Amino acid sequence: MGCATDADPFNVVRGWRKWDAGVHRCAVSQADLERTVISLSADIAASLIAHARAEAPNECCGVIGGRDGRATAVHRATNTAASPVMYAMDSQEQMRLLAAIEAAGDDLLGIYHSHTRSAAVPSRTDVQLAFFRRALYVIISLADANAPVIRAFYLRREKPYDEAITEVPVVIDSSTSDPTRPGR
Ligand SMILES: [Zn+2]
Repeated sequence: MGCATDADPFNVVRGWRKWDAGVHRCAVSQADLERTVISLSADIAASLIAHARAEAPNECCGVIGGRDGRATAVHRATNTAASPVMYAMDSQEQMRLLAAIEAAGDDLLGIYHSHTRSAAVPSRTDVQLAFFRRALYVIISLADANAPVIRAFYLRREKPYDEAITEVPVVIDSSTSDPTRPGR
């Protein structure tokens, strides 16, 4: 990530792409490219829902660190769009969060945002802006305020919308909380 400078957003983008392409040690292996399941502890799920609720009616966003398909940490980001229908992350903040994930010895498992009034299904815009092939796109829906929904997807922005979305089941493990999770 040393190539990124504050003045050059393209370097930042290249930094992300390099990270996503597996240059960094924390990127997932090719074999992990298509995960069959993403596992969240109840604490992680609660943390995602809490962030969604805290930002409502605007969308929240952030990144999820993990190991072996299991989420270990939620890193909140600022939705610079401050909008109920879209999200945007500042590139410098993205780099800081990636560095935090790397420092913790985790992988970038997912990129999350909330849908405060619609289902947890990627929008066309979500697909168009999905530059990470190896990260899961996690969506928290508050459409039913009493029953939040968390779903996860691989998004392939180069494909037509109908073919761009592959869902990966989210398993919420209520029996254990993750001892590797920082904080608390
Ligand atoms: Zn969305």
